[in-house]
Amino acid sequence: MALGEFDLIAKFFTRPVRRAVLGVGDDCALLQPTPGQHLAVSSDMLVEGRHFLSTVAPDRLGHKALAVNLSDLAACGAAPLAFTLALALPRVDEAFLAGFAGGLFALADAHGVELVGGDTTAGPLNICITVFGEVPAGQALRRDGARPGDALWVSHPVDGGIGDARLALEAFRGSLALEGADFQKVRPAMELPQPRVALGQALRGIASSAIDLSDGLVGDLGHVLKRSGVGARLQVDALPISAVLARQPLAWQRECTLAGGDDYELLFSAPAVAAEAVRAAARQCGVGVSCIGEIEALPGLRLVDAQGQPLASAPRGFDHFSG
Ligand code: ADP
Ligand code: MG
Repeated sequence: MALGEFDLIAKFFTRPVRRAVLGVGDDCALLQPTPGQHLAVSSDMLVEGRHFLSTVAPDRLGHKALAVNLSDLAACGAAPLAFTLALALPRVDEAFLAGFAGGLFALADAHGVELVGGDTTAGPLNICITVFGEVPAGQALRRDGARPGDALWVSHPVDGGIGDARLALEAFRGSLALEGADFQKVRPAMELPQPRVALGQALRGIASSAIDLSDGLVGDLGHVLKRSGVGARLQVDALPISAVLARQPLAWQRECTLAGGDDYELLFSAPAVAAEAVRAAARQCGVGVSCIGEIEALPGLRLVDAQGQPLASAPRGFDHFSG
């Protein structure tokens, strides 16, 4: 490596810590959790070719690597504290590292979360972040709290919906033709997801369960249903979509919303009486929320249209998830 490992860490990944007791440079970082709070911990790894395209701009990659981790804290209603960064780099490319660190720290600063340590090694490009957050004891949002009768909600951009990240990916792959202007509109959903950190915290004491959408709505909802021991009715026509996605063939709309992936929105349940509180929490956070169905005692997932009728034809790719 042109720049030595320790010089690289010093140059790109060492900044004075503000809240942690000890940051980069020792064998361990030291964090001081607030008394009465649980520590919330989550890791996500991003592998080139699988989780990101080699063509992505380095600053967007830095942003996304942290964003997907902050999204897990959001889903638990936790406030971000700190994170570690384990990096495998094929070579020391200072332009890449400067861009990557720029995107990473911009998002970190926006959420008041600091880099306290990590590991750096040579190897195929691979980024693993572990985030630490805190949540008042007993108040974490979990996957196992959905109850029959609860309403099912999903967050989304105020003027948008879910599924745009998948739409952008398919356009990029060439499986679907998008006009240049439309591609530019949905591209940030794929490369610059905005973790719903404020909303997650605002939903504490309101939502009965929550998960962040990373693998697609139907699959992620399945995790909640399983952990909670319940079923759900999902109103497919109530799923929020952007104007760009609304112009695509219906089969693609269904594929992108139901099985999309990479949405990083919050899917959550809340008692029916809490609807106004949910809307107020979302407003306060500048995020949109849509009620998309209902939790039921009968296990399994039922997809229905606006008239409440079961969906006539299963959307593409849906078969893997049914049953
Ligand atoms: P050790 O060998 O004791 O595990 P290292 O020599 O790997 O420590 O790392 C030296 C210091 O730099 C440690 O404090 C470690 O947390 C930090 N560090 C290493 N890589 C990174 C990175 N990519 N980002 C932030 N801190 C890092
Ligand atoms: Mg050590």
